[in-house]
Amino acid sequence: MARWCENCDRPVEGDVCEMCGNTVVEPPKESIPWRWRFFIVVTIIYVIWRIYQLISWLSH
Ligand SMILES: [Zn+2]
Repeated sequence: MARWCENCDRPVEGDVCEMCGNTVVEPPKESIPWRWRFFIVVTIIYVIWRIYQLISWLSH
């Protein structure tokens, strides 16, 4: 993924912008929001609970 020079407002190949000489830092990687992690964990727990209920219902 290309880096972005905020001075020139253009994508930059490499570490330094060839137009203005500005050192371009790599944008921080977006981590998964904690709400999504919470939602995924809750969904997994719910699915396990439903499977458990189904198994216990079938075994009776
Ligand atoms: Zn630049």
